[in-house]
Amino acid sequence: MNKTEILKTFFGYDSFREGQEDIIDGLLAGRDVVAIMPTGAGKSLCYQVPALMLPGITLVISPLISLMQDQVKSLNEAGIHAAYINSSLTEVQITKALALAAKGTYKIIYVAPERLESAGFMRFVSQVEISMVTVDEAHCISQWGQDFRPSYLKIVEFIEGLSVKPVVGAFTATATKEVRNDIECVLKLRSPKIVITGFDRENLYYSVEHIAGKRKDAFVADYMEKHPKESGIIYCATRKNVDSLYETLLRQGVPVAKYHAGMSNEERKRSQDDFIYDRAPVIVATNAFGMGIDKSNVRFVIHYNMPQSMENYYQEAGRAGRDGESAKCILLFSAQDIMIGKFLLEKKEFEGTDDEDIEFLRQRDLYRLRIMEEYCKGTSCLRNYILKYFGEKVGAPCDNCGNCHHQYEEVDMTEDAKQVINCLAETRGRYGAAIVAGTLLGADRARLKEIGADSYRSYGVLSHRTEPDIRLLIEQMIREGYVIQTDGDYSVLRIGDISGLKREGAYVGIRKAEKSNIPVSSQKKKKARSTDALTSAGYKLFERLRELRLAIAREEGMPPYIVFSDKTLIDMCAKLPKKEEEMLEVSGVGENKLRKYGERFLGEISAFLEENPGALVSVGEDDESI
Ligand code: ADP
Ligand code: MG
Repeated sequence: MNKTEILKTFFGYDSFREGQEDIIDGLLAGRDVVAIMPTGAGKSLCYQVPALMLPGITLVISPLISLMQDQVKSLNEAGIHAAYINSSLTEVQITKALALAAKGTYKIIYVAPERLESAGFMRFVSQVEISMVTVDEAHCISQWGQDFRPSYLKIVEFIEGLSVKPVVGAFTATATKEVRNDIECVLKLRSPKIVITGFDRENLYYSVEHIAGKRKDAFVADYMEKHPKESGIIYCATRKNVDSLYETLLRQGVPVAKYHAGMSNEERKRSQDDFIYDRAPVIVATNAFGMGIDKSNVRFVIHYNMPQSMENYYQEAGRAGRDGESAKCILLFSAQDIMIGKFLLEKKEFEGTDDEDIEFLRQRDLYRLRIMEEYCKGTSCLRNYILKYFGEKVGAPCDNCGNCHHQYEEVDMTEDAKQVINCLAETRGRYGAAIVAGTLLGADRARLKEIGADSYRSYGVLSHRTEPDIRLLIEQMIREGYVIQTDGDYSVLRIGDISGLKREGAYVGIRKAEKSNIPVSSQKKKKARSTDALTSAGYKLFERLRELRLAIAREEGMPPYIVFSDKTLIDMCAKLPKKEEEMLEVSGVGENKLRKYGERFLGEISAFLEENPGALVSVGEDDESI
């Protein structure tokens, strides 16, 4: 079989994505490859396809047990013989697996780097032909990366010890020059082919919501209500936040798990599994969670707090939408987050580092924090901001982020904010927004005269502003915690924590929404096929297929997304296959999966069509009437 046939037969895909063919061709030609592609771009296929075409065995070195298990399950589902050898197996199991491998049972074997030093494993490799060594998550080789793994340094010794030099492929999503150089040097690659694809993840929608403190809970609760059954990750800065948000969501009836470093190993393992198997499709976690999560159907990543750096943010947010379907990356920002960020940096320890280096690292960390702050406060295209930071050339605004969908005019109202506080002090927090705004504006209203507002010092001090602007300012101050709005029928405004406002360099601005001048047609064009293209009947079918997938996953003890990705289910809804050949046309349905699950999915689709005769389930992609 050639590579395209393998892609279709085993993986069920019609075409390669950007960069994939280049990499595969390089490896097949015996050339070492360094591939740098963003999360979800499809790096695994780039070594799995050639592995099936090369004569011998491919060893894949992977840093995490969960990653290996995930990949091996996926491969087995696709009908490819693969195995992993790591510390989750007993010695007896390992011996057995190696004996099977020596007989040529597996084309692809995943191992942890530590395994390369074991005598039993060396004996095994001396008996077989190793055609290719793949280093997955290759940034673990670099001390510059966030996940440095000393045992990755041993890989090169292992490769040099092999009687026939295999072709070597290194894969990572970390793009910095330092990391790339380290990979090339440490692995001693010989004039490798370097393939770097764009970092843009078109299916991700970025947005920043300015929301203060406790109101974030309400935002999250509301989001859960509006997106039931979707899988997502909510990242919090602290364990305390994780615990409290978890409790809130649990009370609300959301099927949720939590994860942080304060939990025991078993608890964390259970949470992670509940999430992966969709028993708890939502997880609240600190940034300790995520490395090694290849779950493809994550539909949203919400950051409850501003992360420490764009590097962290892009990695964490990037866990959304690995299947290529649209997904949301929402950052909930409040001014307090900047303080939390600085506080965490102050607490950070730099053990065993020179004083000079510590100063350098501190400055770097503060710079990174500022980059995030600007991301949160900025009003221009968020995607371009990210890409520019990572050194990519950017074009026109993306038309697929929160800022592009609003047109803003930013107005500095820092001085006006102080007047609002003065007014609240003067009125001793007795009035609601209407009276406060009217007073500041100096409005000529009976109600204001009645309460004697026209004799206040703050009466009319903002007469040069408009009432809507003052209202926006008050809302902004509520979000930032400077003003507190009480609940209840007669809601009044009180002074909140204004220490931030008194500080030098304090800034309060409003973003005035202008009429969106994006032509409607351009908004439509961008939409990839996703549930958006489904009608309500189509969505019902999608739900039914999801239920079926969940049932099968439970029977098989398999994560649902490994049975079929969301993208595949959506494609089924669009194509409505009636027989097996048509099922093979669906993206992500290969021959093995067709054999295993085809009948049940075809049955579900035909039952649905019988119950809903003539139902229009999807709107064609080129249909302009959406
Ligand atoms: P990475 O390791 O780069 O983060 P993965 O290898 O886990 O990404 O792939 C992400 C998803 O993309 C998987 O669900 C995979 O099946 C899918 N995928 C990979 N290549 C293709 C392709 N050519 N067409 C469609 N889907 C693909
Ligand atoms: Mg990967």
